[in-house]
Amino acid sequence: MNIIYTDVLVIGGGLAGLRTATGVKERGHDVVVLTLVPPKRSHSAAAQGGMQASLGNCRMGEGDNEDIHFEDTVKGSDWGADQKVVRMFVNTAPKAIRELAAWGVPWNRVRQGDHTAIINAQKVTINEKSEAHGLITARDFGGTKKWRTCYTSDGTGHSMLFAMDNKAHEDRIEVHERLEAIALIHENKRCYGAVARNLMTGELVAYIAKATTIATGGYGRIYSVSTNAVICQGMGQAIALETGVATLGNMEAIQFHPTAIVPVGILTTEGCRGDGGVLRDVDGYRFMPDYEPEKKELASRDVVSRRMTEHIRKGKGVPSRYGDHLWLDITILGREHIEKNLREVKEICENFLGIDPAKEWIPVRPTQHYSMGGIRTKYTGESQTLKGLYACGEAACWDMHGFNRLGGNSVSETVVSGMLVAEYISDFCDSEESSINIHTSVIEHFVNDQQQRLERFIHNKNGEDAYVLRRAMEKIMMEKVGIFRNGKDLKKAVEELEQLLFRSHNIEVFRSKSLAANPALVNAYRTKRMIKVALTVAYGALLRTESRGAHAREDYPERNDKEWLKRTIMRWDDPDKTMPTVSYEEIDIDTMELPPGFRGYGKDMTIRHPKSEIRQRQVDQIRVEVEEEGLDRFEVQRALMHYEELLPEKYRGRNERLNEPLI
Ligand SMILES: Cc1cc2nc3c(=O)[nH]c(=O)nc-3n(C[C@H](O)[C@H](O)[C@H](O)COP(=O)(O)OP(=O)(O)OC[C@H]3O[C@@H](n4cnc5c(N)ncnc54)[C@H](O)[C@@H]3O)c2cc1C
Repeated sequence: MNIIYTDVLVIGGGLAGLRTATGVKERGHDVVVLTLVPPKRSHSAAAQGGMQASLGNCRMGEGDNEDIHFEDTVKGSDWGADQKVVRMFVNTAPKAIRELAAWGVPWNRVRQGDHTAIINAQKVTINEKSEAHGLITARDFGGTKKWRTCYTSDGTGHSMLFAMDNKAHEDRIEVHERLEAIALIHENKRCYGAVARNLMTGELVAYIAKATTIATGGYGRIYSVSTNAVICQGMGQAIALETGVATLGNMEAIQFHPTAIVPVGILTTEGCRGDGGVLRDVDGYRFMPDYEPEKKELASRDVVSRRMTEHIRKGKGVPSRYGDHLWLDITILGREHIEKNLREVKEICENFLGIDPAKEWIPVRPTQHYSMGGIRTKYTGESQTLKGLYACGEAACWDMHGFNRLGGNSVSETVVSGMLVAEYISDFCDSEESSINIHTSVIEHFVNDQQQRLERFIHNKNGEDAYVLRRAMEKIMMEKVGIFRNGKDLKKAVEELEQLLFRSHNIEVFRSKSLAANPALVNAYRTKRMIKVALTVAYGALLRTESRGAHAREDYPERNDKEWLKRTIMRWDDPDKTMPTVSYEEIDIDTMELPPGFRGYGKDMTIRHPKSEIRQRQVDQIRVEVEEEGLDRFEVQRALMHYEELLPEKYRGRNERLNEPLI
């Protein structure tokens, strides 16, 4: 048996995983990163639009700060987020951007003087001040109050990931590529590492660590059309679920992005709309202002996706052999802007659609995009129920996105959570608590169990075809657990998925019978797990009888704060069961800095919680009292909700801005 010991095991070589690895290594801990693909090819590289941080450098970002970023994020989440975690995040994001700049990310910069921009389909002139010249600039993105999304043209994730990977090389971080974690090793509610499978040789390796971190990204590929890379299959969430101890949070919270190209589902960034692009219907009519007079195309993604679907349902879609779609018009931005700031979009249009987006409109429709749900953690990134297991990035439900994450907040989360979680993990590794006490026979048991499961797939007779089951699952998710949901369809979806899971116990690998490099075998064990993940999504959606953020129930259109201000928690405590066990975690209004209210876009259809009004009065009163004392915004914030003590000391400092110099 091949056993590798390390202090920290990081599963996932995307932005979140690499930043965690760098952080723990800097604190003197050994770390090994496992990844399916070379880290630079992780899905993070596909992020085009940008990263949110309240630098306040450019003219349209002037006056921005943590408070405004906080408010945008909480409203965007439809009050599903953990507000303390949001505070930790907004405070650290500017530090993350600056650190990445120091690591070589070529952020677009402010240029003093006049430049033109398209706002609300009108050409406007913006004057940038000379003091800001050369500082990191930002674009309009994610429906935020201020322009705060920092970018490197439309290759933001690419340049971030490359800089991060270079840093990992510089720090001599050990990366084991094409090694897939297929099970977590745990005993007595303590995680000790993972069993990984070498995708080339088929060999199983046990990695034993004081702390194990899952940073495996989202689970978008349970849907048939998704903007996600083919490796975003939710295996991190699945192996956590299969411990029977770790829990998943809000798996039903799935984001649909409004502008993926038809039919393949490749994303055109929200930067297209942020930079002034508009949506048009079959008649070429710009319809969004009719639905959302204030935010128009830049309302939150859940709102725009729903409005587009509504408009198509009214017969205003453009018929095509792949179904109806709408148009994204960026021709109004001009060729120069497109070739400079939206280069990837141009290439995608040329290569996959055969069109020139500076001349022609782009066919788009809402498509599965982001997984708000994931492994439920404490604010430290540690699982609430399985000691020594951590999660961060899209794989986790930390939870700063609630039921809708804002554009630009996700790559930001990957880096910020990596920075913070690395500190908590390091503290844990420095403590007595982290000592490893596991018998070799236990490790052996986990490895042998996985080996037997793999062999069963190969030797099974008259079994099921995993490809067939997987296509069926993807179709169910697309048709019944999509943008608009209803009880009848969801119930059917759950029943059908349960059937598929039952059938998946009898999967046979028909093609190659090899235990080594064998895509059919990989598909077999992943499909079985994907169906479990899909079940947590569909079942969570069925039980949540309200509409919140991206979870839109046609039979329960109101956001119901009275009964549903809570997080769905799933556990799979009995491997023989075909359904997860569900519980709920209350979201406490009494301690909220921003009590539940209207998001500022979409329709306000809230069933209010009586406590919301009480807390709002308290908040108003505290504000008045503190402001009367002449205290600054930091002290006002502190009086409303404590969070600073939760941050690692290293990151507690304030952020310097042009209008807020550090004294
Ligand atoms: C097309 C697109 C554009 C986007 N644009 C933006 C944007 O502009 N701004 C923004 O904020 N967000 C954006 N997002 C979202 C954002 O890119 C992702 O949420 C984020 O990059 C996820 O990073 P991550 O590190 O959590 O995971 P990933 O980058 O997905 O990395 C996951 C890693 O885990 C590894 N892995 C997975 N399973 C296993 C396993 N079982 N064993 C070992 N390794 C495993 C993979 O090899 C990979 O290295 C976009 C998303 C998409 C789909």
